[in-house]
Amino acid sequence: NLIMSFESSCDETSVAIIKNGNKILSNVVATQIKSHQRFGGVVPEVASRHHIEEITFCIRDAMKQANVTYDDLDAVAVTYGPGLVGALLIGVTAAKTVAWAHHLPLIPVNHLAGHIYAARFIKPIVFPALALVVSGGHTELVWMPKEGEFKIMGETRDDAAGEAYDKIGRVLGINYPAGPDVDKMAAKGHDTFHFPRAMDNDDNYDFSFSGLKSAFINTVHHAHQVHKKLNHDDLATSFQDAVIDVLVDKTMRALKKHPVKQLILAGGVAANHGLRSRLEKQVDQLSGTELIKAPLKLCGDNAAMIGAAGYIFYKEGIKADASLNADPGLEFDWLPNEAK
Ligand code: ATP
Ligand code: MG
Ligand code: FE
Repeated sequence: NLIMSFESSCDETSVAIIKNGNKILSNVVATQIKSHQRFGGVVPEVASRHHIEEITFCIRDAMKQANVTYDDLDAVAVTYGPGLVGALLIGVTAAKTVAWAHHLPLIPVNHLAGHIYAARFIKPIVFPALALVVSGGHTELVWMPKEGEFKIMGETRDDAAGEAYDKIGRVLGINYPAGPDVDKMAAKGHDTFHFPRAMDNDDNYDFSFSGLKSAFINTVHHAHQVHKKLNHDDLATSFQDAVIDVLVDKTMRALKKHPVKQLILAGGVAANHGLRSRLEKQVDQLSGTELIKAPLKLCGDNAAMIGAAGYIFYKEGIKADASLNADPGLEFDWLPNEAK
């Protein structure tokens, strides 16, 4: 089975060729980070323009690297949401065109399902599973009773974890996206600022990072006003420890109440070294649950993860037709309250 997959929900244009759902023959990722850096974040119009310019080259390179022709393909998979509508539309249109021209089934993939299924490049998912999805736009605990089924147990009430990283990084003069650099600095400092851990003790699985972000920014601004120099590594560690404490505490609580075979850590922030190692230590102490971390190189946006999810949906018979549209607000279902 060969699937050509497309990802264009934000600022990465990506096309991959995936064999049997878990072997990457090619995964071409054209990132636009440089174009957005001077604005300090992703500019939707700029993103759409880049996707249009890049997509055909990505298709060509992905096929060349995988050494396949259109005749070899069995299906086309594409991210149709959530994300930027103009950006999503480029991938959806390209995927529809390839599917139509070559008489291939079209498989619609939720971008967050893609992040989760990046874990399949490590091993198959065993159910029930729980996924902690931490990315630039989302922070969610997702319950997965079986293949292809997703229920939200909790999510952020304001900023996503990655968004908070990017915003506090900006105050420290770090280029967008700030996550990787803050992560490196955090490894060198100490938690000396003791920032708030919002909602940590609340009896739910929701998160909130905007208070932490404000506390951080106020601390830096205040020091600036009184001409006091703060240690940036300590600031980074203090911020990161607060984020990790809440993410890990809530996830462990969910695992204890709803035991699962596997916990999947996915999304751009899943590349965070502090988070990976802390979660590993905690889950190690919990018998019966195995931690599957998305491969480091596949945490950020890429089409390979969309192909992995697409393969599963393909086998489940999930298909779209030419009427498939981009759905910028696409979400998973919520778990009914009584089940939480
Ligand atoms: P979404 O997946 O919610 O639609 P997105 O696709 O824009 O949003 P991703 O590409 O999944 O987000 O993740 C990007 C985010 O991950 C950025 O906010 C970036 O700062 C963050 N990030 C990347 N590496 C790290 C790291 N090592 N530590 C913390 N954050 C990181
Ligand atoms: Mg991105
Ligand atoms: Fe993403």
